[in-house]
Amino acid sequence: MRPLGIRWRLTFWYSGLLTLVLLVYSLVVYYTASRLTAIDTALADELSQLRGQVVSANDEVVVRARCIEMFGTRNRFQFEVVNASGNVLFRTLRFANARLSAPPFANEEREDEPRFASEWLPQLGHYRLITEEVDSPAGPLRLRVGTSLAGADQQLSRLEAVLFGAGLTAVVVAMWGGYLIARRAMAPVAAMTEAAAKITMLDLNRRLAIFRKDDEFGRLGETLNRMIERLERSFEEVRRFTADAAHEFRTPMAIMRSEAEIALRSPRSPEEYRRVIESLLEETTHLSGLAEQLLFLCREDAGLISSDFEPVGVCALLEELCEQMRVAAREKEIELESRLEPDCYVSGDPQRLRRLFMNLLDNAIKYTPRGGRIDVSCRGAAGRVVIEIADSGYGIPAESLPHIFERFYRVDAARTGVKGTGLGLAISRSIVDAHGGTIEVESRVGTGSRMRVTLQKAQPPANGKPGASGAKPQLASR
Ligand code: ADP
Repeated sequence: MRPLGIRWRLTFWYSGLLTLVLLVYSLVVYYTASRLTAIDTALADELSQLRGQVVSANDEVVVRARCIEMFGTRNRFQFEVVNASGNVLFRTLRFANARLSAPPFANEEREDEPRFASEWLPQLGHYRLITEEVDSPAGPLRLRVGTSLAGADQQLSRLEAVLFGAGLTAVVVAMWGGYLIARRAMAPVAAMTEAAAKITMLDLNRRLAIFRKDDEFGRLGETLNRMIERLERSFEEVRRFTADAAHEFRTPMAIMRSEAEIALRSPRSPEEYRRVIESLLEETTHLSGLAEQLLFLCREDAGLISSDFEPVGVCALLEELCEQMRVAAREKEIELESRLEPDCYVSGDPQRLRRLFMNLLDNAIKYTPRGGRIDVSCRGAAGRVVIEIADSGYGIPAESLPHIFERFYRVDAARTGVKGTGLGLAISRSIVDAHGGTIEVESRVGTGSRMRVTLQKAQPPANGKPGASGAKPQLASR
């Protein structure tokens, strides 16, 4: 069975609570109205008058005479005086007509206090009675005064009908009104649900309508709108990334295809075939580097890369990388200097940190002309480790600086003659982000660039191993 909607649940809760309140209220009213305080007071008053007459009478004849005189014509109240052996000395007309039994009363049954009782009397109906045993010169007497409860009963049943009718009407009206109010209050949710159901991947630019900004539903709508905005941005990024990636693959593939086609059109000399094969090899290497970088970024985005961090000795890692890169630097007659403080440990993934610094060193060598200089430094400062790679290379134009960490962004390649993928710095930034650090660049065209990576300092490992070892990834950039 489908669970009840929030509108109905609100309505039922509200009506249930109201029914409970009305029920308690009606019970209190009914109980108060059904109390016979006024009737009992009047009965006690009549009894005391009767008592006054009988206790001063010398014998039963006087008792009877006084009662006839004083109470014989009363209409609203009925009186009865019975002696100890059960003989009726006096009864008003209705009591007499009803032929009430008047059993003799034993002395031990006697109670000094008057007793009230409500009884159903034959022929008379519902009566309220007050009874008292008194001593008189004529002997012990039982006095009884009664009055009909017919009027009170009628009033009570009228009250019952009013309470029931009014209560039922109030509950029905409350349910109806409650449902309308709940429906009105929930209208923004219904509208948002309808609008959200229509939003697909193709029209993420649509937004939910907000009725009132400052209430709970308004805030919910705004939060959902911000979420849709983030989704839109992410989809846009993915779309652009896919288009850029396809474009990056298309150009080298087209070159390879046309080179192969031209080479096959007519017989060529072995040197010419060799040149074509070399060119194909160059393009395939570029493509496999690009594919590997794309795969890394996709995995990083999907959170598939392990985040089991361990203490990594940055000094040892950089020392090792500088040693490796010196070969390439020497080929371009670039001087590669390192000033590395020992005991600089960060908590991280050694493989990814190796890749990060390799990218930066590789860029520094690629974008520094022959005879230049590269300085690598690492120092600890206030709980952080700062790594700087400064080169005396071409530098980056100021207008390109805000974009160089974007995927596929490349500064005009003709300027440096270097063929890259535009993914190296994007990968570096995602590695730094995953390690909770920052990466900044300072650069001036013609003077050089300085890449600064700041990472949280960590405690050295207990066994003293630097933790920077592991399989070396292939050099991604060319
Ligand atoms: P690429 O594969 O093109 O090197 P990167 O993402 O590593 O891609 O770099 C993006 C762009 O930033 C490069 O095209 C290059 O122009 C510029 N760049 C990066 N590092 C340096 C540097 N050390 N000196 C000058 N330019 C740099």
